[in-house]
Amino acid sequence: MRAVIYFCAVLHCWLSWLAVAASGIHLGYYRPNCQGTETIMKQQTKQTGIPRRTCILLALGLAVLAAILVWAIGGVGQQETPYTSTSVAMGTYVQQTIYGDQGEEAAAQAVQAISGLEDKISWRIEDSDVARLNEAAGSDWIQVDEETVSLLSLCLDVAEKSNGAFDPTILPLSALWDFGGDNQQLPSEEQIEEFRSYVNWQNLRIDTENQEASLKNRLNALDLGAAGKGAACDAAIDAYKQAGVNSAVVSVGGSVGLLGMPSGKNSWAVAVRDPLTALEDGQSTSLGTLSLQEGYLSTSGIYERYFEQDGVFYHHILDPKTGYPVENDLASVTVVCQNGALSDILSTACFVLGREEGAALLAEYGASGLFVTKDRHVYITPGLAESFTLEAQDYTVVTLEE
Ligand code: ADP
Ligand code: MG
Repeated sequence: MRAVIYFCAVLHCWLSWLAVAASGIHLGYYRPNCQGTETIMKQQTKQTGIPRRTCILLALGLAVLAAILVWAIGGVGQQETPYTSTSVAMGTYVQQTIYGDQGEEAAAQAVQAISGLEDKISWRIEDSDVARLNEAAGSDWIQVDEETVSLLSLCLDVAEKSNGAFDPTILPLSALWDFGGDNQQLPSEEQIEEFRSYVNWQNLRIDTENQEASLKNRLNALDLGAAGKGAACDAAIDAYKQAGVNSAVVSVGGSVGLLGMPSGKNSWAVAVRDPLTALEDGQSTSLGTLSLQEGYLSTSGIYERYFEQDGVFYHHILDPKTGYPVENDLASVTVVCQNGALSDILSTACFVLGREEGAALLAEYGASGLFVTKDRHVYITPGLAESFTLEAQDYTVVTLEE
């Protein structure tokens, strides 16, 4: 079981690195030019036998010229080295890349903000808002933090609009399957039938005015695992803004937050992971690149947490209506929008709903996304089509209709 957890952590780390590495494409902009110049210089030295000092001067001159040319032609601003950091929260990796002088301080504040959020919304943390709500299910209303209330309201909104495909009260079922946990198992049909009956988003009630919430029945319980990492990106970006940062990228597991623009560029390049190579051989290769401005994106995929038993594949995104992992043609869904928590919630909701209903839900929220199928199609909403560049082989890109 440890191996499975470790494997998932490594996968997550890969995805995070992929995202950050992709944003780093901009940082590496000068590198090919420098190497190219160096190679040319070496050849010239050999062929012409010019004295060493002249060569160095020539190299310096060429480097300055190249820099001026790139500046002038490419419109590329000053490249600065960002502050980068890696930490762990919410059972996954947090990767930060921050431009500007306040990088280190802002990164520390973001780490604090994410950990503060986790202390409120994790059902695993004793005395968190969610743990207290679960504990008091069927009895009391519980006073919770503003941040918790607003996340719960967003969850309820999507639960309603997705007709329960996304259900924040999924804990009885998710804990029963326990993907990636010590009790991971294929439950019996009777167990699934029973636990399924405890899952119902309509039993979650929120009083926004008094900042209180409650669960109607004793066995109702919240699991915000499908919303937390996106919400963590919101918290990090807020922390950056407060610290006066205006250019940064943060990734928390499969969610990414983008603030401003990378130094000297007018868009971020974010790699989307190929869900099928991830599944086939645990590799992390890029499906393609999304060229994005400020905003958030989240991916939900069948490769994140899963197991096989008697030749059957079981993954961690559950259909609340059946109690079993969602069975459709999808391998992953990536959602792009202007709110981190919403992007995370919608990626799960769209995975459960499938391509057609999922795309309709995205339209309701003014969000866009791409649906990757097991038969190697990438269905992309019109708003995102222009931004996506396919890199993986054997995939067909289809733009969905408005
Ligand atoms: P990840 O946690 O890997 O980023 P998701 O954002 O898709 O992936 O969230 C999946 C997690 O959300 C599951 O591990 C489970 O805790 C919870 N979950 C699974 N199915 C649903 C569902 N239909 N609605 C809400 N939460 C779900
Ligand atoms: Mg999600």
